Amino acid sequence: MDSLIKLEHINFWYDKGKPSELWALKDVSLEIGRGEYAAFFGPSGSGKTTLLYLIAGVEQSQQGKIFVNSRDIGSFSKQELAIYRQVGVGMIFQQFNLIPSLSVLNNVALPMSFLGISSARARNEAMRLLERLDIKELADRLPFELSGGQQQRVGVARALANNPPIIIADEPLGNLDSTNAQRVLEFLKELNEKDGRTIIMVTHEAWSLKDVKRIFYVKDGAVVKTEESQPKTIAESLSQHLYEQLSPELTKSEVVVRSLASMLLRGYSLEEIKRFEYFLSQRFAGHIDGEVFRGVLDRPFREGGVGLWKQKAFKVSRYVEDILTEKKEVEEVYTELERNPESPLKDEVERIRAWLLEGYHGTVNELQQIQIDELISDRLRNVIGSEAFRKILNLPKKQYGVGLPFRATQRISEKLELVLARGEKRPAGSLQGV
Ligand code: ADP
Ligand code: MG
Repeated sequence: MDSLIKLEHINFWYDKGKPSELWALKDVSLEIGRGEYAAFFGPSGSGKTTLLYLIAGVEQSQQGKIFVNSRDIGSFSKQELAIYRQVGVGMIFQQFNLIPSLSVLNNVALPMSFLGISSARARNEAMRLLERLDIKELADRLPFELSGGQQQRVGVARALANNPPIIIADEPLGNLDSTNAQRVLEFLKELNEKDGRTIIMVTHEAWSLKDVKRIFYVKDGAVVKTEESQPKTIAESLSQHLYEQLSPELTKSEVVVRSLASMLLRGYSLEEIKRFEYFLSQRFAGHIDGEVFRGVLDRPFREGGVGLWKQKAFKVSRYVEDILTEKKEVEEVYTELERNPESPLKDEVERIRAWLLEGYHGTVNELQQIQIDELISDRLRNVIGSEAFRKILNLPKKQYGVGLPFRATQRISEKLELVLARGEKRPAGSLQGV
């Protein structure tokens, strides 16, 4: 790897030497290649933002070294550091961080004026950036007059102002709806692939990792795992994960438990995931009820629980109970299909469709509903595999697809796959449904 950023045994403390001292980064070593798209992924408070600030030269570590372009940024003079921060790195924030009293154009031009670029030229360049982000017509507005999605595009334009080779984005999707989040992701991908910029994103949402090539899992101030991946969709990762889990001894429901556990607790430690898997399988087998299950989720780890935060525990248990209810319904559909393979299943399919579309805020017209119902019916009968199901949902209408947004199709198909798996052992050789 042609390394651009290299961290060597970084330790970092907030308030070092004070009673409030906090050891935020613990012996972190990592490398990010030139032109790479990397992400720090992990629960909140794990040290992701701190890592970004160290790389951006906003904070300095007390121990360890950071090399950028083979130069130790800890040895920079004050002036070199200021230049590095202005020209080396562009930052995108979750809260946008625009200056409320400045127009959109001036917000974008500001980093250039710090470098002493004439204001006429800065405004010209800023206009070009607004054009690239497709928000030229907003140039004279103030930030509060913009939607969140528009503000984030201004934030991206500002990050690009001094044409930095490195773009750092701290939870850039956190305050956006799914359409705008998708747009920002597309743009980050473009900055990486077309401009060749090195991107480092912080996120705690698994779906936003779809284009990322290197994932650093961060936990309690340490990088606990590094994953290098060919860009692939979450659905593909999920199905690959399912294949990996396949061994002759595993029943389909065990496969589901494993994939559900790793999906819901992505970024957590292996011990936590293992323990969660155990309770999940107990719940799936009906050995414990929903209330007991919820109880063990937020019980502290050393007391035998999974140790999730209360809110996370609540969300996870609701998701699991919802899957279980739906699985029961699908079991009945299978029973019906065994009795009569030609059974039309109209009501059942419509109900499953409504369940799958819960939480989807886009509109679905009548034709799309019919298409989705056909797809569900085909998938239930195993006429099509999971990947085909997802692809057709996403394909544009012109190509006879349903034309749903990419992110929605991933969520919908993952949800469906979770309830399709049945409890009994899988007949040998029938991998199609996976
Ligand atoms: P993340 O971005 O993963 O949520 P952070 O890097 O923001 O995590 O925080 C890591 C740890 O450092 C947390 O325990 C947080 O409370 C603490 N921390 C963050 N910023 C400061 C600060 N300015 N002063 C003291 N502690 C901080
Ligand atoms: Mg953070």
